[in-house]
Amino acid sequence: MREIEASLITEEVSKLCIKANLYLADDIKSRIEKAEKEEKSNLGKQVIGQLIENMKIADEDKIPICQDTGMAVFFVEVGQEVHVNGNLTEAINEGVRKGYTEGYLRKSVVKDPIIRENTRDNTPAIIHYNIVPGDKLKIMIAPKGFGSENMSRLFMLKPADGVEGIKNAVLTAVKEAGPNACPPFVIGVGIGGDFEYSAILAKKALTRNLDQRSDKDHIRELEEELLQSINSLGLGPAGLGGITTALAVNIETYPTHIAGLPVAINMCCHVDRHASVEL
Ligand code: SF4
Repeated sequence: MREIEASLITEEVSKLCIKANLYLADDIKSRIEKAEKEEKSNLGKQVIGQLIENMKIADEDKIPICQDTGMAVFFVEVGQEVHVNGNLTEAINEGVRKGYTEGYLRKSVVKDPIIRENTRDNTPAIIHYNIVPGDKLKIMIAPKGFGSENMSRLFMLKPADGVEGIKNAVLTAVKEAGPNACPPFVIGVGIGGDFEYSAILAKKALTRNLDQRSDKDHIRELEEELLQSINSLGLGPAGLGGITTALAVNIETYPTHIAGLPVAINMCCHVDRHASVEL
């Protein structure tokens, strides 16, 4: 059994919070740069140019890419042969507390969804655990702003709705999101599982490299077709018109019940943040 100290986890999570909020992954940056070259609308081009300048300022001045530094969402893979000396969940939350405080990141979490008193340290995090073989601990953070989160949708389709139903669900979510979710979007789609698992799949889909298409032929085709359809809507960067409404559509699937076809669409803006560490 491999031992990992909780204090090491806290330290690494703290660094991840800052890293994810200051720097976008290279695949996202290069999609945005490519979109600037290809955008046909002058206004759209200017908006993307501003997004690129904003990323550069964040990088040089070490400030967040967006003022909404999100709720701290984690995907954690825990090797079966790892033993944490301490409480893993508390160690992650302590890392969020430290990272969001030392990094001067906005604290956006309220303790009670109705009373709405800010916890002042961005805890608690939302943590999705997965037990896997091996002796490693992989921690991924995906801070999620709520401008786009609020425009996400979940549809419990019937099997007879089929692929057309799925396309219609995704396009409905995009049209309803409009400029509110800060386009250009990255769109995470979860198909299958059950009510809650489809939503987790959709969120996980946002963390997949944008250059990596699904390894299933029919899903890869659906990703490409949906991206084309979405970019034909004309919404464009910041909703001001253009051909760059989405940078990518990432779909994850899971087996489901014979009577259902859950489809979750997790909308994300161009600030599709995620960073990970393996211990
Ligand atoms: S949707 Fe994205 S870009 Fe818009 S405010 Fe939220 S985090 Fe920032």
